[in-house]
Amino acid sequence: SNTNTTRKDVAQILPGVKNIIAVVSGKGGVGKSTVAANLALAFAQGGAKVGLMDADIYGPSVPMMFGVRGERPMMKDVNGKGFIIPLDRFGIKLMSIGLLVDEKNAVVWRGPMASSAIRQFVTDVEWGELDYLVIDMPPGTGDIHLTLMQTVPVTGVVIVTTPQDVALADAKKGIAMFGQAQINVPIIGLVENMSYFTPAELPENKYYIFGKEGGKKLADEYDLAFLGQIPIVQSIREGGDKGYPAMVGDDPISKQAFEEFASTTI
Ligand code: ADP
Repeated sequence: SNTNTTRKDVAQILPGVKNIIAVVSGKGGVGKSTVAANLALAFAQGGAKVGLMDADIYGPSVPMMFGVRGERPMMKDVNGKGFIIPLDRFGIKLMSIGLLVDEKNAVVWRGPMASSAIRQFVTDVEWGELDYLVIDMPPGTGDIHLTLMQTVPVTGVVIVTTPQDVALADAKKGIAMFGQAQINVPIIGLVENMSYFTPAELPENKYYIFGKEGGKKLADEYDLAFLGQIPIVQSIREGGDKGYPAMVGDDPISKQAFEEFASTTI
């Protein structure tokens, strides 16, 4: 099918959504979901209407990060067609495969089934009016990326990496993929996560555990905007595990890092 035609059609499917931001990473475990969740929350705290779509079919993190595991969204019938109403948590609309099926079931889905689930996240979820729809993409480059990029008018992509060499190598593959003619989605920029650690008792010190400024150097090398550094903070990890992401927690240091990043991203 013709990619351009598909894209135009979908612009009519999500007419109420002003900006769609896809958060991607080359490698798993670099903090992509953490960054996506806190970016969405930072936008919402700035007064925007925000949705967060967890497109990580094989490893959904939104249910745990937002403390909504086991909750199921409501359905609604519009002229004989069923719509899924996203969950509302901390003022943002949430959708994740983990809210629809038992998390361990989706893990064995084959590519086409995962892609079709993702298409439903676009066509069958009542997103309504949003300033930002943030999409937490699966790690790496695969079927779901192609499906989403071809069916959704993505405004831009945010790349998450750690400063570590292996993460940077994989981030380069992502940069190459989003620049490809068949996808061709603008890259908003790159954010470096887990940049350094500062012990509470040595507030002036920065320990570059995963290497220094690898993400910044990569952004420079590819001429991408550098969206900032997020330090390693225990409360960021704890908040994610507890269902209260950093932006709704009480640690000003981690909040400030995500606020600065969000303001650079817009
Ligand atoms: P990904 O989506 O890339 O797989 P996650 O967002 O799930 O990564 O993060 C992996 C783990 O690292 C999670 O336990 C998360 O809480 C933790 N984490 C992410 N970013 C940070 C950070 N800046 N400081 C501390 N822990 C973090």
